This record gives sequence, structure tokens and C-alpha cells, in this order.
Amino acid sequence: MGTCNLFRVHDRAWQNNKYVYPVISRRSGGLSIGINLNPDKACNFDCVYCSVDRTIPPLIRDVDLSVLRAELEQMLEMVLSGELFDAAPFAQAPRQLRRLNDVAFSGDGEPTAFPRFHEACEVIAQVPANRNLTSSCKIVLITNATLLHRREVAQALEVLDHSNGEIWAKLDAGTDAYYRAIARTSVPLNHVLRNILNAGRRRVIVIQSLFVNLDGQPPAAAEITAWLARLRELRDEGCRIKLVQVYTVARRPTECYVSGASDALLDNIACRVRELGISAQPFYGTE
Ligand code: SF4
Repeated sequence: MGTCNLFRVHDRAWQNNKYVYPVISRRSGGLSIGINLNPDKACNFDCVYCSVDRTIPPLIRDVDLSVLRAELEQMLEMVLSGELFDAAPFAQAPRQLRRLNDVAFSGDGEPTAFPRFHEACEVIAQVPANRNLTSSCKIVLITNATLLHRREVAQALEVLDHSNGEIWAKLDAGTDAYYRAIARTSVPLNHVLRNILNAGRRRVIVIQSLFVNLDGQPPAAAEITAWLARLRELRDEGCRIKLVQVYTVARRPTECYVSGASDALLDNIACRVRELGISAQPFYGTE
């Protein structure tokens, strides 16, 4: 299996685990241990590019945090002992990708929608801390940012702040119309932007922006310009943006009219972000 195919393997089922799964991640540049707090597939977005098939009913609906903790402890043990890299497909991973980068809240829905998210953060943070891994292993929250204003979510973010946490907040659009076409949600874009701003005023954050072709057509030039304007506004209003990840789909999206953006478009967008004085990195679908 080549590196390209390894990046496409994001199977959230790992052996008999319910919530914890390992992936070689493009954007992490190494091994990421995924935490699925949404086996029920709950999300308040319905992104056209989402790879979660919600036509298939979930096999598991509840999250048992003691089981989750045990699975994470066992997974860390497998990573640290090297046992994980004896198993397919990780045995094919090149040496430079065999480093543990992070434990990531990702999975089949929006992690902050999990009602015990604060408690989950405390449980997850404790596991690497018990092995003195806090400084070398990030805890990444991959989020659509819609619920960051909730008090209990804000408290959970403070737990992550003290545990080498990093927020990767989704921002795929610059106009309300395009945002609605992509995310198919009732949550207004302004609400998302306000949440990103407030989170980024408190700590340095990463923006993750996914671009796709719809019916073979890339986003309009005016849409890209509007998205860049939103980034500039966030920055000017005090949002501390460490990096903008400019990427596209690497796995089969839900909707057949969605396809990956070209490498050239991603390069161009990343270049325009850098012209704003903000770091940007493209991640290609064909990588
Ligand atoms: S926010 Fe994530 S999980 Fe939710 S629909 Fe979009 S891609 Fe899927």
C-alpha cells in the first residue's frame, strides 16, 4: 500500500474497539489516534463532502467513558511498544509517518455535541499525562465551531488548553449562500465566525478549510475572495490563527456531485492566504 492509499484509510472500526481508532493522517503528518464521541453519527451540519454514511443506522449509540479510557490506554501501549506497526495497514507506513502526533476528537459527528464533552476531555487528557506524553502528544479538537459558545464546551476547551490541546475549526465558505450549500445547516455563518473569533482570542487556533468541486465546478472566484475577507476580518479582530489548512476530500464523499479540488487551486488559495500574512498549508486529495 502506498502512502497515498494509507491516507485514505480512516476506518473508525479498529479491531473490537468502540471509540478509539488509529489513522495515518495527512494533516497530522503522522499517526493520529482518533476518538469517536459520536458513534450515533450526530452532527448539526450535513456537509456535502462528509464521508459518514448516515443512511446506515449506527451500531452503537452511547459512549461509555470508562471503556473509552481503557481503549485509549491500550492503543497508546500498542503505539509505544511498536506493536501497532506490525498490523495492517500500519505495517506499510513509512518510518517518518510512524510518529505519534496527536489524539484527535474526530469521528462520525461533531464532538462538542456529545453531552459529556467536558468530562471526555478530562478523561482523554489524563491518559497521555499518565505517561508523561502531554508535551509531545497534542490533543486535537476537530470541530465545526457551532457549539464553542456553550459554557460547558468553553470549560472543556480550558482543559485542552492545559493539556497541549489545539482547536482545528472548520471554515469552508465566505458567503452565507455558499456556506449553506456546503454545510446544509440552519446555524448561521455569522454565529460560526463569532465562535471562531472568540476561541481564537483566547488561544492560538488552526482553521481547516475544505474546498471541493460541485458538479465539476470549483468554487467561484468571488467565493474565494469572500472567504479570504472573512479570514482577514478574524485576524484583524484579534483571532490568533496559527495555520490555515487548505485541503480537499481524500475519501469518497456522501454526494456523487462532489469531487476533489485540483492541486493548482489549493496551491493558489494557500498562496493568497499567505499574502494576508497568515500561514497556510495545502493538502492535496491526490497526495
Ligand atoms: S461537520 Fe464533519 S461530521 Fe458533520 S457533516 Fe460536516 S464533515 Fe460530516
